[in-house]
Amino acid sequence: MKIYNTLTKKKEEFVPIEPGKVRMYVCGPTVYNFIHIGNARPMIVFDTVRRYMEYKGYDVNYVSNFTDVDDKIIKKANEEGVTAEEIAKRYIAECKKDMEGLHVRPATKHPLATEEIGGMIEMIQELMEKGYAYEKNGTVYFRTRKFKEYGKLSHKNLDDLQSGNRSLLVSGEEEKEDPLDFVLWKPKKEGEPSWPSPWGNGRPGWHIECSVMSKKYLGDQIDIHAGGEDLVFPHHENEIAQSEAANGKEFAHYWMHNAFLNIDNKKMSKSLGNFFTVRDIEEKYDLQVLRFFMLSAHYRSPLNFSADLMTAAKNGLERIRTAVSRLVNLTKELQGDWKEGEMETVKEPLEALAAKFDEAMDDDFNTADAISVIFEMVKLANTAVTEESSLAAAEAVRHEILTLCDILGIQGQVQEELLDSEIEALIQERTAARKARDFARADAIRQELLEKGIILEDTRQGVTWKRA
Ligand code: AMP
Ligand code: ZN
Repeated sequence: MKIYNTLTKKKEEFVPIEPGKVRMYVCGPTVYNFIHIGNARPMIVFDTVRRYMEYKGYDVNYVSNFTDVDDKIIKKANEEGVTAEEIAKRYIAECKKDMEGLHVRPATKHPLATEEIGGMIEMIQELMEKGYAYEKNGTVYFRTRKFKEYGKLSHKNLDDLQSGNRSLLVSGEEEKEDPLDFVLWKPKKEGEPSWPSPWGNGRPGWHIECSVMSKKYLGDQIDIHAGGEDLVFPHHENEIAQSEAANGKEFAHYWMHNAFLNIDNKKMSKSLGNFFTVRDIEEKYDLQVLRFFMLSAHYRSPLNFSADLMTAAKNGLERIRTAVSRLVNLTKELQGDWKEGEMETVKEPLEALAAKFDEAMDDDFNTADAISVIFEMVKLANTAVTEESSLAAAEAVRHEILTLCDILGIQGQVQEELLDSEIEALIQERTAARKARDFARADAIRQELLEKGIILEDTRQGVTWKRA
């Protein structure tokens, strides 16, 4: 399996630190509003990386934080006259709902910055003891030039940074030893959440949060650290400086970054105001269509959002689902083990396509090519599996298509909704079965309905039902 590593600018063979295990950290969103579909891109992309690695047999420890203390959260809290904590809690809950809709599985752990302040203070103290940090008037800064490898991720040169930075010096930061130094801890301002520390009440800088949460839940060294490409500099560059200076070890072996989701070829962002939230999209489309659209491009290619591309994604997804549904119907009629001739017409081409899917995914998670392979499999299903086929052949193709869809977090088979009349008929059949004391049949019907999302309730007035 090859991964493009931003650190080396090369595709490298993936070799985990511990055989069979993957330790992965993905920078999560700052929670002050509903997430937009740009934020959804890293969620979908790295969830797919995780799913593929699990399919390959790795045990993946996947950690992704929520940044729940930040200027934007505080601003929103002040606007609404509530606490920052209330804003963060609300939008974490909303974000989790969106993740569920997008089939982004919950991380092994979702740490919150505000619950890890103790660890941050400890790391800052360690950096001070080692000479990598200093305090001025309640603010603690990282001494950037002391970390000799600074710039290795973003491939920036310190002197270029220096000249670019001089004009950017924020007022109040003249006290810094060097314009390149960045904040680890900032003093409390009136009306802001704060925590006690050896440098007075205050709160952590953004970069130290991820260094600390990654260390606590995954250890000093991890396999993969990921996020959107805007995080390469300064966020991830600073994370490397902090973690490697404190721990004395290489922080992450592979750095993965997704390209932007654009609108009219401009980055979708809250500050530009050119964004759609996941909720906006959900009003018009099944969120599976959004996921399918995102994966139809390689994660390192910019992706332009448009109604046309969403329609193409919708049609593509439907093509897969129609083929699966046809296979399901066929399997109800077909019988028996593989027939003569099916090795060449079904089994071998199916296996070849499954291998081609893996090849695409092994090449730096090329989901665009992987989806093309699924379409080839759909073609195989539609042409090579017929009323003349064996049950084994139809089952194998259906199973393979669904397995590959599942790796991409795509539901290839939709639960067919029962009509009200079909539900009523089954309930009548169940009542009759109970009267005849055929309780096994009655239970089987209840179970069948439950699997299709129909809940029965036996009341004194008779049986009522509702959709789950
Ligand atoms: P933020 O809440 O801004 O820190 O962003 C959370 C994650 O979403 C980060 O990994 C960002 O890089 C990523 N992100 C933000 N906007 C976009 C976008 N338009 N396209 C792709 N990724 C984005
Ligand atoms: Zn981070």
